[in-house]
Amino acid sequence: MKKYVYFFGRGRAEGKAEMKALLGGKGANLAEMTNISLPVPAGFTISTEVCTHYYANKRSYPRSLAGEVKAALKKVELGMKAKFGDPKNPLLVSVRSGARASMPGMMDTILNLGLNDVVAAGLVKRTGNPRFVYDSYRRFVQMYGDVVLGLKPVHKDEIDPFELIIEAKKKQRGVHLDTDLSAEDMVDLVGLFKKAIKEKTGHDFPEDPMAQLWGALSAVFGSWMNDRAIAYRRMYDIPEWWGPAVNVQSMVFGNMGETSGTGVAFTRDAATGANEFYGEYLMNAQGEDVVAGIRTPLPISELAVKNPVIYKQLNKIRLTLEKHYRDMMDIEFTIQDGTLYMLQCRVGKRTAFAAIKIAVDMVGEKLISDKEALQRIEPDQLNQLLRPVFDLKEKEIAVKSGRLLAKGLNAGPGAATGRVVFNAPDAEAWKKKGELVVLTRIETSPEDIKGMDAAEGILTARGGMTSHAALVARQMGKVCVAGCSELEIDYATHTMRVRGKVVREGDWISLDGTTGEVLEGKVATKPSEVLQVLIDKTLDAKDAPVYQQYARIMGWADRYRRLKIRTNADQPDQSLNAVAFGAEGIGLCRTEHMFFGEGKIGPMREMILADTVDARKAALARLLPLQRKDFEGIFEAMDGRPVTIRTIDPPLHEFVPHEEPAQRQLAKQMGISYEKVHQRVEGLHEFNPMLGFRGCRLGIIFPEITEMQSRAIFEAAANIQARGIKVEPEIMIPLVGNVKELADQAGIVRRVAAEVMKEKGTKFKYLVGTMIEVPRGALTADEIATVAEFFSFGTNDLTQTTLGVSRDDAARFLIPYVEKEIYPKDPFEVLDQVGVGQLMKMAIDKGRGVNPDLKVGICGEHGGEPSSVEFCHRINQNYVSCSPFRVPIARLAAARAALADAPAKGSKKRAGKKAPRRKR
Ligand code: ADP
Ligand code: MG
Ligand code: MG
Repeated sequence: MKKYVYFFGRGRAEGKAEMKALLGGKGANLAEMTNISLPVPAGFTISTEVCTHYYANKRSYPRSLAGEVKAALKKVELGMKAKFGDPKNPLLVSVRSGARASMPGMMDTILNLGLNDVVAAGLVKRTGNPRFVYDSYRRFVQMYGDVVLGLKPVHKDEIDPFELIIEAKKKQRGVHLDTDLSAEDMVDLVGLFKKAIKEKTGHDFPEDPMAQLWGALSAVFGSWMNDRAIAYRRMYDIPEWWGPAVNVQSMVFGNMGETSGTGVAFTRDAATGANEFYGEYLMNAQGEDVVAGIRTPLPISELAVKNPVIYKQLNKIRLTLEKHYRDMMDIEFTIQDGTLYMLQCRVGKRTAFAAIKIAVDMVGEKLISDKEALQRIEPDQLNQLLRPVFDLKEKEIAVKSGRLLAKGLNAGPGAATGRVVFNAPDAEAWKKKGELVVLTRIETSPEDIKGMDAAEGILTARGGMTSHAALVARQMGKVCVAGCSELEIDYATHTMRVRGKVVREGDWISLDGTTGEVLEGKVATKPSEVLQVLIDKTLDAKDAPVYQQYARIMGWADRYRRLKIRTNADQPDQSLNAVAFGAEGIGLCRTEHMFFGEGKIGPMREMILADTVDARKAALARLLPLQRKDFEGIFEAMDGRPVTIRTIDPPLHEFVPHEEPAQRQLAKQMGISYEKVHQRVEGLHEFNPMLGFRGCRLGIIFPEITEMQSRAIFEAAANIQARGIKVEPEIMIPLVGNVKELADQAGIVRRVAAEVMKEKGTKFKYLVGTMIEVPRGALTADEIATVAEFFSFGTNDLTQTTLGVSRDDAARFLIPYVEKEIYPKDPFEVLDQVGVGQLMKMAIDKGRGVNPDLKVGICGEHGGEPSSVEFCHRINQNYVSCSPFRVPIARLAAARAALADAPAKGSKKRAGKKAPRRKR
């Protein structure tokens, strides 16, 4: 018979960290902590297979489940020496969902389950602490009412009905904090809560503990399909069939009085990565009080002063956990009457800054290898390091002129400027209109995630470093200032007051997520430390700790990757930036951009509109020296690195003027009539230019264009080589679908190369190849490779032509397509590996079949997208090419792909290692 329930307690657990798929993250780690002798209250985990069964069988449980639950509960009772539902000595439990991938706040936990009027009375007798008992009871009824009985409001601006009752009670008593309410007040609250439940649902609150337990279990399974859980899964690529496990665990109480408390912590600073114990706690509090922002929690450093014994014990656990998991951990603990209990641990979420610092530091501490460090940094996280920061001078001026509005917690580093909106749907709507927004909330909740995603920055009035806003912002890599208590936010009027000023919806503000400052208006930003060192050269590497970490990671990446990384660049300055980021060559130099440069568009237009070969050649002759100069600049900047130059590609009408005045001017220049110019321009019009007269088709009909471009390239090569700089041009013919097209063009290129070598009395190396960007090119790659020395996948066009989708016209249906999961991601952003990728793989196999030395790369946008880079590695390409700013990301992605071939030593031991990658 299949086992569905796994016990943990008394130093032994049936599960372990590796069993995440079965026990969920929370359950697996509770088992692991039990096994390494940490103080974990006993309990059991109901496996994820029950959720799968539940949805596969019309929301029903496996037949053996009830018996297993009963038996496990008995073991917990034995361990805790108390009995579920027994008034004389009651066992209370929490019911905690735990998905395989952690989903912060997505599932609701119920605490103190097992209480009813009789049990509460019994517990008062046993503990002599009525306030504690009724505080626990009212919390339980509220949580149960919200989560299981559905009283939690759906709309964002509505308030929880139980909170209204509490507020009324506090007002009546003239107190501010929950802790100021007396035992009698709590008894009242329980009664009022139950009344509210009866009114809203028509049913009495269930008094039978067993009924409470099963109600809670089905609520957890049911919540897997609620809207916010679905939205979260979609955002983080968590598949639907990864249902949650449920943990039933005996309660320990942080609300027993001043010797009790509860807290959350990170074993290192999750924002900066500093190796310091970082966390928050509250005495006489339970569960979520710390993160809910009801009372402001104390920093963990206070615990060291106020309760050194507990602190020492906790700090020891911190070190044990880091050694054991070899990672930065996020923990939950509770102190019950002076005794410490661990309630959760998981690998901690962190900012990109922290991820990099922690990975680098842990290599230094010999906790992990350099390979593991690479596997722990998501390539996209590097983006955050390249992001702008505020120009300090500008900020100083802003502060001096009184524009500092407030200071909160520096929960998500970086600089953000945007217009204030006060709720998530507005953030989404404004963003769609192209506005930059700062989402400003009293506090955020899981319902807000889409709006948070749309915002440049997130600002909250309440909550600490571990509040929802802070956690999610870090995960998304958003700038965030949290717990800015001076803000008086009024949702109803869409305004906030702060330091005597009023900020309205739509006003500009700026957040410094590194310092926690909130500034009125826009503040100019400046490049990140990495850019200052590498590109602007305004900062010395030795004064730039963030840069140093970046550099070490990149060094390790280069040690393990096998893919070469090139860049798409058309100009010497772009090329130099890319080299600074580590580019090893140019994978795509688009010559057409050059024609818009100084002095070139005139002759270019004359060339296009010429009606005789001679006239065209005359115009081309004027272009030749200008193009040659462009190429010389690029070859010089690339200093010996290979450069792939694509011959002219776009339809010619993109180069000619379409407005009458410009056409008249051109006519004058060319000495022909305006009518003639107008007529020729009209003649170039195409119904579907993407599939029209472009690519190699241009060079085949106008061979003199290819000839001029080849000459410019090779003369430049000879000239630069004569100056002692190595040059390796690779001439790439676009849009080839038939080997004869390539043979025609390659013939011209090779003839010109020979001519130039002869004229200059020199020799240089060069290659001729093609872009594979139409399906026929891939399908006949074995023919094409008899002529081509290299292939470069032009995956932008290859995606358009394979899917039969015009990228420019796709917006209207592609987004809904992705929402409907027809394509898992926008195929223009993330390579369609199944379709387009199959053509690529086929082209490589066929091509290398006839030409084993065939060099293969990619130059579409996908060349800088991590999952696509990994795919390129797997199909044995030689290189990827991407925009300069994505070069570091591609380097890291390539290294991770190489390491995935041969997993790092010791990585098997690590928890959750096999889980598919997802965004942090
Ligand atoms: P989440 O997944 O939202 O973090 P948890 O299941 O961790 O939810 O529980 C919410 C809060 O309740 C946490 O602060 C946790 O430490 C606390 N908690 C859960 N189970 C118990 C328990 N058995 N005893 C005391 N506190 C608990
Ligand atoms: Mg938790
Ligand atoms: Mg193309």
